[in-house]
Amino acid sequence: MSQGLRLVLFGPPGAGKGTQAQLLKDWLKVPHISSGDLFRHHLRQGTPLGLEAKGYMNKGELVPDSVTIDIVLDKVLSISDDEGFILDGFPRNPHQANELEKALVGNSRNVDKVVHIHVSQPELLRRLGGRLVCRGCQAPSSLGEGEDIGSKKCSQCGGELYQREDDNPEAVKRRIEIYREETEPVLGFYRERGVLVDIPGDNTVDEVNKQVISAIAP
Ligand SMILES: [Zn+2]
Repeated sequence: MSQGLRLVLFGPPGAGKGTQAQLLKDWLKVPHISSGDLFRHHLRQGTPLGLEAKGYMNKGELVPDSVTIDIVLDKVLSISDDEGFILDGFPRNPHQANELEKALVGNSRNVDKVVHIHVSQPELLRRLGGRLVCRGCQAPSSLGEGEDIGSKKCSQCGGELYQREDDNPEAVKRRIEIYREETEPVLGFYRERGVLVDIPGDNTVDEVNKQVISAIAP
């Protein structure tokens, strides 16, 4: 029996991981696991993990790694051995990568491929500056050429869109810095395991998609 591909989409905030995952999931016929969506799901449903996370958030504290790891592993381990997945937004540091590997290998096998979408700093700043979120359902959106925030509505629920506090230029720079310091070392972890592929990500969505597909095609 053929096994579904276990793929991690990796890259800085603004690299387009979520967009690429959407494009790939129909082609690969495997589920897309977005750590951000999972997190919002647990918060909305008030699951034990969601309540635990909320407890920290209400105190203005960062949600600890252990809770994030539990949320993602809970989902990843619900997927059968033969089924694949596309994971995006996780792992964000080498500890998370290690925990993911331990859980997967204990169950069956580790991830098959990690696609690193590399995007230059100026392009990231440009993209993240135009990023919007829905006030209603929290779905991400972005301003296209010639669009303005006042007239654009959420494509999921028609809700009002706004720019998050952490998408202002200073906060964006800080998030990219955190990515470079804490998340980028994960590349070394996967490079050692021989599963890492680098893709230039400054191009259009379609162009990047073609390159991702040729990188993961058997
Ligand atoms: Zn919405």
